[in-house]
Amino acid sequence: MAENYAAVLHGPYHIKIEKWPMPEIDENEVLVKIACVGICGSDVKLYSSGKCGRDILDEPIVIGHEAAGVVVKVGSKVDTLKVGDRVAIEPTQPCRACEFCKRGKYNLCDTPRYCSSMGAPGNLCNYYKHVADFCHKYPPALEAVASGAIDLKKFITHHYSLEKTKEALDLAKSGDAMKIIIHVQN
Ligand SMILES: [Zn+2]
Ligand SMILES: [Zn+2]
Repeated sequence: MAENYAAVLHGPYHIKIEKWPMPEIDENEVLVKIACVGICGSDVKLYSSGKCGRDILDEPIVIGHEAAGVVVKVGSKVDTLKVGDRVAIEPTQPCRACEFCKRGKYNLCDTPRYCSSMGAPGNLCNYYKHVADFCHKYPPALEAVASGAIDLKKFITHHYSLEKTKEALDLAKSGDAMKIIIHVQN
């Protein structure tokens, strides 16, 4: 199989492109060949300071979490995705066992594995594995770059009004990535 390279952050302003192990998927995961990765404010914070929220960079980590790509391998229990599907990656992988997860509020999970936070690699790399039910198929008409932007919805939701979020998501459906980026920046 092809080789995997990743953007690895070693410390503030210290990033290296390194050969990275090809991820081994389990039965509920898929392997995604990454097509594009948006750079989010939290990436910039981690890159420039080595810290983001409660996360402190204490070992080299693959950065990036707003990604889209193509499924190239599926786990034996995955029946919702197939090889060739184009997907946007929802960056979190909740524990599915805590009280919040059991109530369906997985965004509040006690111990989520969030892309590019400590203990969970990000997806600024060629090949990345993720749980299949947090990879969302997107329509053929939509370009990968716009799909990566759709994945920004959590970011937008955290930072903007509901009205502005709806506007951004409508733009995302149109597939016009440049308009979305301008909208989010303003
Ligand atoms: Zn983000
Ligand atoms: Zn949980």
